[in-house]
Amino acid sequence: MGGMSQGVLRKYREYLPVGDGTPMITLGEGDTPLVRSNKLSQELGCSELYFKLEGCNPTGSFKDRGMVLAVAKALEEGSQGIICASTGNTSASAAAYGARVEIPATVLVPQGDVAIGKLAQARAHGARILAINGNFDQALSLARAVAEMYPLTLVNSVNPNRLEGQKTAAFEIVDELGDAPDLLCIPVGNAGNITSYWRGFVEYHAAERAKTLPKMMGFQAQGAAPIVLGQPVPDPTTVASAIRIGNPASWEGATKARDESGGIIDTVSDDEILDAYRLMAAGEGIFCEPASAAGVAGLIKLHRNGLELEGQSVVCIITGSGLKDPEFAVKFIKSEVREVSPNLEAVEAALLMSVSGGRKG
Ligand SMILES: *Cc1c(COP(=O)(O)O)cnc(C)c1O
Repeated sequence: MGGMSQGVLRKYREYLPVGDGTPMITLGEGDTPLVRSNKLSQELGCSELYFKLEGCNPTGSFKDRGMVLAVAKALEEGSQGIICASTGNTSASAAAYGARVEIPATVLVPQGDVAIGKLAQARAHGARILAINGNFDQALSLARAVAEMYPLTLVNSVNPNRLEGQKTAAFEIVDELGDAPDLLCIPVGNAGNITSYWRGFVEYHAAERAKTLPKMMGFQAQGAAPIVLGQPVPDPTTVASAIRIGNPASWEGATKARDESGGIIDTVSDDEILDAYRLMAAGEGIFCEPASAAGVAGLIKLHRNGLELEGQSVVCIITGSGLKDPEFAVKFIKSEVREVSPNLEAVEAALLMSVSGGRKG
């Protein structure tokens, strides 16, 4: 077993609802890097700022942590297939794990609203894709209805196994830092993830693996901020498609995480999300999804509004990989690509326009 990825089911078995009859499947999910910030930590005066790179999961987002358990339990229960609604990442993950264990996956996505990389994944893994002419919230009610009528397991985060699996990310943070951080910054969409993290921290604290609990700092996009507004948003809008959700399934879990931890759930504007997205890529070397940048944008906003971060340990959850949505990057990151003739003079001329310092020797 040396060096082989054990996956979250094996690694955290004692904290998960797995028994002798649960197939221990894995695609190598979990065990994602916790990387210290270089640039933002200086700007914010926060010497202990970390990014948890959930884009390093097998399908490029944290959804795999919960999907592996949801699919294992579906197999254990003799389910004939899995179904979900998705803004993209849940469908990519369901499609991959479905292919892995050879059960059919059906995914309902809002038509025209899913990043190309995510759709490509669902197609490559052979999922049945239904493009719903509506938004995510409508797709989710339809998926719920179909799962009631057919012997299919719903693998959205309303499936309790999804939330159980996702809490393993909180365990990893404590295992690595030796304790919980002071603040955990996280984007909030359907609100399953903030619910899971809080559960993970609370369980580890109860098991005396952590001495402290973090304040949970959740961030919704301004045009898709039902929890902040205190009411559903019928037509949510934001550039960050993974959190474009107007009626979160885990609403109560999110407010409980906020209130029990003494944290907040606040909004960030699309401009703030874009600034954080660019800063992560160009300043930290971390290419994340627009939605992932919402947590970072939130931290920057808190600092701007006067929150003192010196001496605080902070973890920002980078929920997914920027490679999911290359079209977004090309559209929103202005960078010049210069055409150059294939000869040394032309390359040198182009270099001299952009490189400081002269030639070697
Ligand atoms: C699903 C997702 C979110 C939102 O997580 P919720 O559990 O729905 O709140 C954020 N970022 C990315 C990249 C996602 O895939």
